Amino acid sequence: MEFVYPGIIGILLIINFFTVYRIVRLKQKQQHTSPDEYTKGLNALVDHNLPEALEKLKRAAIKDTANIMAYIRIGDILRESNKFEGAIKIHRQLTVRKNLDKIQRLKIYEALVLDYMAAGQFEQAIEYASLMLALDKDNLWALEKQLECYECSAQWEQAFELKQKLQKRQNSTDKRILALYKVEQAKFLLQKGQEKEALGCFKEARKLDETCAPAYLEQAEYLMQHNQSGDALKILKSFVENVPGEAHLAFENLKIILFELGHFSEVEVIYQAAFQKNPDNIHLLSVMAEMSERKGKHEEAVAYYNQILARNPNAMSIWLANLKCHEKTGQYQAATELVFEWLQKIELNQKRFRCQVCLYEAEKPFWLCPECHSWDSAEYQF
Ligand SMILES: [Zn+2]
Repeated sequence: MEFVYPGIIGILLIINFFTVYRIVRLKQKQQHTSPDEYTKGLNALVDHNLPEALEKLKRAAIKDTANIMAYIRIGDILRESNKFEGAIKIHRQLTVRKNLDKIQRLKIYEALVLDYMAAGQFEQAIEYASLMLALDKDNLWALEKQLECYECSAQWEQAFELKQKLQKRQNSTDKRILALYKVEQAKFLLQKGQEKEALGCFKEARKLDETCAPAYLEQAEYLMQHNQSGDALKILKSFVENVPGEAHLAFENLKIILFELGHFSEVEVIYQAAFQKNPDNIHLLSVMAEMSERKGKHEEAVAYYNQILARNPNAMSIWLANLKCHEKTGQYQAATELVFEWLQKIELNQKRFRCQVCLYEAEKPFWLCPECHSWDSAEYQF
């Protein structure tokens, strides 16, 4: 029995020693992997101190090569410093590591999408966004980045399909962007000389969104340049018909075509029709005023100018046109009154104090500019 007790005590001591040793080693190891360096790196990142962040994160990564996030962030900093190749290299090296979990993989691919986009290599960015979607098919971020890549690389067909898919998910029925994609596709096809396909795309755009202005105007412009004025005229007329609010955008080309064809009076008929549909439109009012003046109907023109000024009192060119019109008809008294009225309006609109740094204006003096936060930047204006 005397020999048994010391034996047990000895074994217990040895077990105890190993337990203490393991705890100490674990602590040492934890200190060794130093979450501190990583945290310091993140803090430097928050402070936008990129060199410091890079140094701390590099140290964290060397001490603990399993710290994937440290490597990802090192690459991110390189990308933000426009060192795209370095960023891509670091992030790509991470992809071949074993035992990555899904979240880590997604983070790495996300970084690569951003790297390749920043480098203007959209095909590769699309590829990595696809890898994200293979892991997580509903990843909205990846889908949106893919769309951005398609737009940036003029892949309008793909952009169209993807946008449709996204809109379905968001229950959106807005066809405006889809129509604009078709217009861009048409322009792209025209550049490649595929006229028939391009004209088809313009047509589709108008079908998607009847008010899509470039779907009419761009096609008309192309047709005019290729001696198909008749067809251009048809398109421009249907534009004025369908989008009267923006009809003025077509007037310049309408005038050119109709004068070319010798149909002078038709210009006026089209203007009138557009104006009657949209009597409040400032652009159309000014076209009507111009027309009245040309016909020598100055009083009519003045009435149009006054309507415009009632809506937009700061339209300097309209004040001037109005004055000239008064002058032509010898209404000097009325012209003088008009000048006074105009000057008063200008004075009312003028704010007295202006920041010399950012041109912010205010009625009352200020010492700290609310816009650009400059001190003592306000000056009184005479
Ligand atoms: Zn300012």
